[in-house]
Amino acid sequence: MEEVHNRQLIRSIGSKAVMRRFFFLSILFPSCLFAQTVSKAVLPQPRLVVGIVVDQMRYDYLYRFYNKYSEGGFKRLLNQGFNCRNNHYQYAHTVTAAGHAAVYTGSIPAINGMIGNEWYDPFTQKGVYCVEDSSAKTVGSSNSSVGRMSPRNLLTSTVTDQLRIATQFRSKTIGIAVKDRGAILPAGHTASAAYWYDSKTGNWVTSTFYMAALPNWVTAFNDRKLPAEYVRQGWKTLLPIREYIESTPDDEPYEAKLPGATKAVFPYELAGRAGDAFGTVLSMPGGNTMTKDLAIAALKGENMGKGSVTDFLAVSFSTPDRIGHAFGPHSVEEEDIYLRLDLDLAELFTFLDSWTGPGNYTVFLTADHGVMDVPGFWQQHHLPAGLIDGGKLNGIIKTALTDAFGSGNYIVASENAQLYLNHSLLREKKITVDAVSATVREALLPLPGIADVINLRSLSTANLNTHLLELYKNMTHAKRSGDIQLIPEPGWIENGGTGTNHGSPYHYDTHVPFVLYGWGIAKGETLRYTTIADIAPTIASLLHILPPSGTVGNPVQEALK
Ligand SMILES: [Zn+2]
Repeated sequence: MEEVHNRQLIRSIGSKAVMRRFFFLSILFPSCLFAQTVSKAVLPQPRLVVGIVVDQMRYDYLYRFYNKYSEGGFKRLLNQGFNCRNNHYQYAHTVTAAGHAAVYTGSIPAINGMIGNEWYDPFTQKGVYCVEDSSAKTVGSSNSSVGRMSPRNLLTSTVTDQLRIATQFRSKTIGIAVKDRGAILPAGHTASAAYWYDSKTGNWVTSTFYMAALPNWVTAFNDRKLPAEYVRQGWKTLLPIREYIESTPDDEPYEAKLPGATKAVFPYELAGRAGDAFGTVLSMPGGNTMTKDLAIAALKGENMGKGSVTDFLAVSFSTPDRIGHAFGPHSVEEEDIYLRLDLDLAELFTFLDSWTGPGNYTVFLTADHGVMDVPGFWQQHHLPAGLIDGGKLNGIIKTALTDAFGSGNYIVASENAQLYLNHSLLREKKITVDAVSATVREALLPLPGIADVINLRSLSTANLNTHLLELYKNMTHAKRSGDIQLIPEPGWIENGGTGTNHGSPYHYDTHVPFVLYGWGIAKGETLRYTTIADIAPTIASLLHILPPSGTVGNPVQEALK
């Protein structure tokens, strides 16, 4: 009884004290008190989140071309937003599908299942493309194969899914990218829509997974026939070519050629010569520009950012990946594509200011992986790099296995520098995976460019440094990964001679931008080690929603106001 009485006493004293404080405060700061009441009545939310992934954007591009960027694009994010300058992928196979999935799931391939753009399914004994779905049909084009896509192979939810769940599916979430996987994986399983590009017809398309027919605004966009127009314009450098001092001379022997081009030099006149005009636009600034144009058309067409709940637009710019692969990070083509992307971003941000009102939207920008400099460029300057001949490796592996175990088809598939073994043959011949792995290792270790060969089925006992071991563990999925992993030396890529590649566990492939800007974002930067898996939980914290189902990252607290 006494305890109850005391509690009541405390409550009544407390409420009297509060009353008295309220009385004084309301005399001193009446409007302040009012404002506080209003702001707490409704949970503050941005009108819109815009996630931007630049395909193959390495961290250093923020600064190598900084002096030439406009005020409204990358510089606006860097100088008015929050910059995580030491942001990394923390898994080994750094490619497009894995990257886009990791950004939006806050997870790793070992959990979300996106171990590569392709893999081999040992249970169905078939190769799998990351977003393939034979039950889905093309919407928006006569090309039947381009739309057989959906996010069904993604094993966890995305931050876009979690926003949809949190708002009882009132939030609109749309994914846009030239590449199907760049649009589909970010938008998640519950997406309002995802749109990607059909290089056969020049149309933006979707699949029956999302809808039965294109919305009118997409059909109207396709009717503008922008790809043909961009190809007709050709590609000249934005600035006089002598000003591209950050890059090597325009014509290097290790550069690939654009479709329809006779030499890898500016200016490119591609109209008429390009056999595949709708594909050619993807290797020109027009690929980025039409992606930005469709993003703006989506905001207008779906009235995104104007409703009572937050909407989410996920845009991925795929063209820089094509340019990077063909010409490398130190080419004039690469520098020019980033100077022009900067202008496209500036235009997008200016539109967002007018559309939602400045400060009412949140943007983040990152990349799905980095890239190695062209090995030929490194070799010119006595740096350690080189090319691995995949065909030659296969021959050596086959010979070694036949010599050790007798003739037989021991390897059923090789994807992502992994060998998938023929387990029924191994059982029949009573050969262990360890024995095969040791044989392959012994045969390949003497070769230049091969750092190691490990058995992915016994990673816990692998004799590998702890740094790489963690990256390979995070990448290995029990049902989708191969049995044996070939690990390259830093700087070495499997490649046919021109251009470059990514997909390694090394710094140049893992270190990518992560910049936040706008509503709810503090101004500043950190050099603390952050990971790609931190992006989704950071956005989830901003929106006060649950992070995705496979999240392993943590919110970047310093970035949030
Ligand atoms: Zn990519």
